[in-house]
Amino acid sequence: MHEVSIALSLLDIAKRYCDREGYKGIESIGVKIGKASGVMSEALLFAFDAVKIDTIAEKAHLIIDEIPVSGFCSTCNNNFSVEETYVLCCPRCGDISFRLETGRELDIYEMEVF
Ligand SMILES: [Zn+2]
Repeated sequence: MHEVSIALSLLDIAKRYCDREGYKGIESIGVKIGKASGVMSEALLFAFDAVKIDTIAEKAHLIIDEIPVSGFCSTCNNNFSVEETYVLCCPRCGDISFRLETGRELDIYEMEVF
């Protein structure tokens, strides 16, 4: 499962941060997950709860901020955002030369430590 390796790398980043800064534990980790990143939030939460056992993040909550997919089409000068997890063409003019602006995020944006 894809999400297990993502949970492990989140944990690894958080652990290294705490080691370096001298923190003893993690209360929460906030991550931004773009809807086009291919990561299922539910599965990631589940995976994180499994991999955090017996680590510095044992009591940590994973807070997921889902970022919608949005883009800009230079053909019709249109900023758009969609509900879907992917964009194949500009929703207004149908052109395929659009630029995806958000939706691929997979970042830690905050961490509560003690
Ligand atoms: Zn367009």
